[in-house]
Amino acid sequence: MASVLVVEDDPIIRTSLIQSLSTCGHLVRSAPDGFGALREITQSPPDAVVLDLGLPDIDGADALRMIRGLSRVPVLVATARDDDLEIIRLLNAGADDYLVKPFSGGQLAARLEAVLRRCLPAAAGAPQAQGGGGGLPGSGGSSPMVIGELRIDPLARVVQLAGQDVQLTRREFDLLAFLAEHTGQVVSRQRILSEVWRRAYLDEQTVDVHLSCLRRKLGENAAQPRFLHTVRGVGVKLVCPA
Ligand code: CA
Repeated sequence: MASVLVVEDDPIIRTSLIQSLSTCGHLVRSAPDGFGALREITQSPPDAVVLDLGLPDIDGADALRMIRGLSRVPVLVATARDDDLEIIRLLNAGADDYLVKPFSGGQLAARLEAVLRRCLPAAAGAPQAQGGGGGLPGSGGSSPMVIGELRIDPLARVVQLAGQDVQLTRREFDLLAFLAEHTGQVVSRQRILSEVWRRAYLDEQTVDVHLSCLRRKLGENAAQPRFLHTVRGVGVKLVCPA
């Protein structure tokens, strides 16, 4: 199962893409335009993007370039134009593959699987069975972790600060749980990307964006950290506040 972002403005096509990808077992989100897509990719990076080129707000090729400025997520472009030059231009602009409309759900699923296999050799689908540092945080049946006033229950996926629930996104939770499993150790952003996101190629800023959301939810900021400390030039560590 992969998390797939469908970017398509036509509601009928969008619904049909979502249905056929969901049927294949993927977790599908959608955006109706280019800026919506960029927002989704920044907030919660998907495993792959299916990008329509005829979008209402930005030209699809420009959207593709903007996505590439943010991330190396595999992008499958859906184009109405069956034009060699156009397709070559898109592949050069960073598309991983393309589909010419109209295409069947089966064709989409097969292209997507191929792109995921090529781009995410260790991810997409297989349960993370390794123990220790290899598995996703919280996947190993660990017991709750208590760090000062912070309590993280990996099984229930609940975080409490001073007895109050803290609402986190899936990624924020995974990031916090991972840092908590390494309390007191500085962890590099690269390691966080490869172990929490399982995408070592993502921009390290992705980690910073999520860290800053986490800090806000934990009532702290980078200038006055309590739990989440940035060690300049090295990485991040979670500590028990004195
Ligand atoms: Ca369109």
